[in-house]
Amino acid sequence: MTGLKSFDEYVALAEAAHGHMCAGQILGLRLALYGVKLLGLDDPAGKDRKRLITFVEIDRCATDAITVVTGCRMGTRALKFRDFGKVAATFCDLAENRAVRVTARESSKARARELHPEIGDKNQQQMFAYREMPDEELFDSQWVRVRIEPHDLPGFKAPRVVCEDCGEGISFRREVARDGRTLCRGCAGERYYEPL
Ligand SMILES: [Zn+2]
Ligand SMILES: [Zn+2]
Repeated sequence: MTGLKSFDEYVALAEAAHGHMCAGQILGLRLALYGVKLLGLDDPAGKDRKRLITFVEIDRCATDAITVVTGCRMGTRALKFRDFGKVAATFCDLAENRAVRVTARESSKARARELHPEIGDKNQQQMFAYREMPDEELFDSQWVRVRIEPHDLPGFKAPRVVCEDCGEGISFRREVARDGRTLCRGCAGERYYEPL
């Protein structure tokens, strides 16, 4: 028995989660379904949920759709974001210790134009085409090795430490040793914000 839903069910779930339906969502759904298919997982968000970790490479529409299919979320540490600006994701099966990276092909948009010249609206045109194009036409895939450190896995337990500069608590070994002190990454110079 498969835990995978019908494509239309995924579309409805993605639309609810993302706030609208768009070509990026269709592409993301297809990309994730292809990824879990290549791994041979038929219930990624159910019985297989503890074995799957997904790395996404863009923070756009497709990513929301990928989380709908895989069930991988930031809050469970099963979704990892690497900001490469690419519609691509790597699906890691912890049980089989293998991973496959799937990328959207640049040719997809042009192919959508070819398939549905009668649809003027680009988003609609792509939504239609991305539903029906075969996986191999939409995506490239490659088997890869992903080194996931124990402290990056879901369920990792380690004592929290406190930054000796700001006093804030730090989990998951994100602390930095600097001149004999234990600092958070912010105090060690990686701050993305400026205190006012
Ligand atoms: Zn969107
Ligand atoms: Zn600090």
